[in-house]
Amino acid sequence: MADRLRVCALYPELMNIYADRGNLLLLQRRCEWRGIGFELSRSDLGEPLDPEQADLFYVGGGQDRDQRLCALDLAEVKREGLHAAAERGAVLLAVCGGYQLLGHSYQLGDELLPGVGLVDLRTVRSDGPRLIGNVAIEVELPGLDRPRVLAGFENHGGRTRLGPGARPLGRVLRGHGNDGASGWEGVRRGNVIGTYLHGPLLPKNVWLADWLIAAALGREQPLAPLDDTLETAAHAEARRAAGV
Ligand code: GLN
Repeated sequence: MADRLRVCALYPELMNIYADRGNLLLLQRRCEWRGIGFELSRSDLGEPLDPEQADLFYVGGGQDRDQRLCALDLAEVKREGLHAAAERGAVLLAVCGGYQLLGHSYQLGDELLPGVGLVDLRTVRSDGPRLIGNVAIEVELPGLDRPRVLAGFENHGGRTRLGPGARPLGRVLRGHGNDGASGWEGVRRGNVIGTYLHGPLLPKNVWLADWLIAAALGREQPLAPLDDTLETAAHAEARRAAGV
C-alpha cells in the first residue's frame, strides 16, 4: 500500500483561475496530517507526460487565451501520456477551463480547439451570458454510502454538452452546471473527473479530496478521520450561499 501521494500539476501558472491551485495545497495538507507523504511535480507546455510519474494529475481553470496554448499542448504533447495514465487508473481532476479540454473540442467562435479526447463531450463558447454564481450539485461515487453535495462557484462562457458515452459527475441542485439547461454538472469516467466548480473546489468539499486521495492511492479502507471543524463550516457556508 503506497504511503505517498504523487501529484502532477499541469500548467500550474497558466491554468490557475480563482486560486484553483489551492486544491493542491489542500491535498498536500490532508496527506501530511495523516502521515501520508506528498510529492508535487509539474508538467508545462512542451513537456511530455510520463503516465507513471503521478497517481493524481490536476489541471485548473483558465482564460480562453491560455486555454488555447494548453489545448494544443494537451493534444499534441501530452495526449498519449494522459490516456495511459487514465488507463492505469490514475486520478485526473480537471476544473473549469481544464474540464473543457477533456473532451473532443472547445469551439471558440470560428476556432475549434482540440480536446484531449478522454471523455465524450464537446464545449462551445456561447455568445450568451456567462454562467456565473454559486452552485451545488449532488454526486454519487463508488465507495460512498450516500449521495453527497459539492458546493462551489462557477463562472464560464462555455457550454458543455455530454455525448452518449459520457456520464455527468452530478445533478445540479442550484446553479447552471454544464450548459444551464441539461441539469447535469461535470463528467466522470472512472477516476477521470471534470467539473466547473471553483471555490477552490476541494477546501470547500473535503469529502471529495479524501475520495480522490483514496482512489489515487488505491485504498479500499477509508482514510483516517481528521478534525474537520473548519472544513465542515466552509462546506456549510458554500451550501448556504448556493441555497441548499
Ligand atoms: N475560459 C473558459 C470559459 O469562460 C473557462 C473559464 C474558467 O476556467 N473559469 O468558459
